[in-house]
Amino acid sequence: MRIGVIGAGLLGAGVALELAARGHDVDVFEREGACLSQASRQNEGKVHLGFVYGHDRSLATARLMARGAYSFAPIVRRWLDLDTLPLDVSAPFHYLVHRDSLCSSEELAAFYAQVVDIAAHESGRPGASYLEVPGAPCCRRLTAGERARVAGDGIVDAYLTSELAVDPAPLASLVRQRLSEDPRVAVHLRTTATSVTISTDEVRLEMAGPDGVRDDAFDHVVNASWDDLLRLDRTAGVDPRGPWSYRLKRYLRVRAVGDTALPAATIVLGAFGDIVPYGGGDLFLSWYPAGCTGLTTALRHPEVGHRLGSDGEACLRAAIHAPLAGLVPALAGLPDEAIEGAAVEGGIILAQGTTDVTDHESGLHARSDVGPRSFGRYHTVDTGKWTVAPLFARALARRIAGAA
Ligand SMILES: Cc1cc2nc3c(=O)[nH]c(=O)nc-3n(C[C@H](O)[C@H](O)[C@H](O)COP(=O)(O)OP(=O)(O)OC[C@H]3O[C@@H](n4cnc5c(N)ncnc54)[C@H](O)[C@@H]3O)c2cc1C
Repeated sequence: MRIGVIGAGLLGAGVALELAARGHDVDVFEREGACLSQASRQNEGKVHLGFVYGHDRSLATARLMARGAYSFAPIVRRWLDLDTLPLDVSAPFHYLVHRDSLCSSEELAAFYAQVVDIAAHESGRPGASYLEVPGAPCCRRLTAGERARVAGDGIVDAYLTSELAVDPAPLASLVRQRLSEDPRVAVHLRTTATSVTISTDEVRLEMAGPDGVRDDAFDHVVNASWDDLLRLDRTAGVDPRGPWSYRLKRYLRVRAVGDTALPAATIVLGAFGDIVPYGGGDLFLSWYPAGCTGLTTALRHPEVGHRLGSDGEACLRAAIHAPLAGLVPALAGLPDEAIEGAAVEGGIILAQGTTDVTDHESGLHARSDVGPRSFGRYHTVDTGKWTVAPLFARALARRIAGAA
């Protein structure tokens, strides 16, 4: 059986490794010059337990995230054939409630208690492990004194959770290396899938690569292209699940900050930001109003791969750091050179919902109607979140191998 995978992010790489492990030959087509160089490398690395989806009262997003979170490390460890994963894990996340939060502190407290119950349930499944870190899921409200040590004015309540992030960059490098070594996987870099044609007994892919334009037939094709997902689906005659949007989200990566007193923190609930000191010493900083731009309902974000000039980057560094430092005063203690030297990175986010997170009714507040959809031999995956990529990769590989 010949299987073609479009896109080598964590999802596409995972599908390829899962299918190769089941004895199938896989061709992976990747637009960029390296695998795992886009959203699966350029993200915050939070392995969501669901706390941030406090506006999804159905709890469907929290359930899905917890399922993904507790299977993330076990699945990736199997891909990499390692006994333990060398992960740069953050400290547990504080959830800092902003005075302009979309949900009240009482609503969030009740929601967080439900998230803990859901995570506890997932943790009891055979083989479940949350990033190989021992301990039960938890969420504790900080006292006013504890809160004052972490947060400044503008934060009205604070919780310490058991949620963690891992630095996605070293993990991406490990998966990239593993993919390149698998004898059943052929990776074709700088090769862009341009269109898909589905028929009963094959799926044809048209591609543009270093040797020009070509056309090839496969028994199954997986669309794992994330930032080109909907445009490619449309060429195959597949419509989106519902209204969607793409956003470009930029953040700062401050190198080798070392041992600081900085907390891992997510400011909730709305268009705020995150602070993530990774175990390896780098620091992630995001401030949504400055870094998240260009929400579009086009089939593709026009700024995929777009870089800011040096002046634009300097402005963005200040526009991300200053408001965050106002809310988490320890950030103000970082040396100026650390912020001035921070790398500006970013990636595209696909989500269902056409209005931004400041809208109570926005579809962006849920991320549960995601995952693989199959149309005969064509399979398209809205990964939704990095957290659930391994879970979806394994599920889709089982489906394709089962069909074979
Ligand atoms: C700034 C930011 C922060 C985030 N933080 C988190 C977080 O903390 N936790 C979390 O769970 N999720 C987070 N996410 C979301 C997460 O990054 C994505 O959901 C996830 O990485 C998507 O994985 P993927 O493999 O589907 O996509 P990608 O990793 O983007 O892989 C898709 C690949 O397809 C390739 N490609 C695209 N079009 C084509 C084509 N036509 N032909 C060939 N190749 C093509 C691309 O080059 C890319 O390599 C964040 C996203 C961003 C941008």
